[in-house]
Amino acid sequence: MDEAQGSRRRQAVIFLGPPGAGKGTQAAELSRRCGVPHLSTGEMLREHIVQNTELGKLAKPIMHRGDLVPDELVLKMVEKQLSRPDYERGFLLDGFPRTLPQAEGLDRLLETGGFGKPVVIHFMVQPNQLLRRLAGRRTCTVCGRTYNVFERPPQVPNVCDDDGGALMQRKDDSEEIVGPRLDAFYKQTEPLVEYYRSHGLLEDVAAIGEVETVTKAVMEAVCRPR
Ligand code: AMP
Repeated sequence: MDEAQGSRRRQAVIFLGPPGAGKGTQAAELSRRCGVPHLSTGEMLREHIVQNTELGKLAKPIMHRGDLVPDELVLKMVEKQLSRPDYERGFLLDGFPRTLPQAEGLDRLLETGGFGKPVVIHFMVQPNQLLRRLAGRRTCTVCGRTYNVFERPPQVPNVCDDDGGALMQRKDDSEEIVGPRLDAFYKQTEPLVEYYRSHGLLEDVAAIGEVETVTKAVMEAVCRPR
């Protein structure tokens, strides 16, 4: 997948990394540049909560504790989304897979869908930097753009630069919930680094510094011939 020709390839790209590593910011940017959809399971689940669907009702207390939603529910939701025609040419996955059964489920979905092996971008950040990023994260209630009050503040406090929407802090970015979320990552998701590395699919990217610097590194990793 690259800016000029990438969307002609049926490429799945997985963003793997802890909460607060900048996956969502980079996924939005890459999706814009490459013209492929970006699927965030966290965003989809939050939308289910807003719509008060059966899945939303089930997921809400789990997410508010900082735990992971059961694999079979997440896999079903992802399978439905990936069957949409706009996903045919390729897509970016942010926050999925998060467990080994999800990764194995995704392998099956990609095979059935006629996709090749995914590229897995591993966002590497020191744990102590994550706490600051999560505590400072704010999201526009209108367009979903994310800011960081420490590193990338909006021009006017609590107001989105793009559309004037109010910024909010995610409930699960609060201090009490960040701990369990990071625990869930290191226990259940980090083993996927070895899973994908052993399959020769992993690209390590240092997710530190300016957003543009990381975007450049991610683009290079996605486009590297393999
Ligand atoms: P995120 O927006 O990716 O940080 O996800 C927010 C929350 O949604 C997580 O803490 C989980 O509770 C839930 N969630 C998102 N994606 C998944 C997934 N792939 N598997 C299980 N739970 C998920």
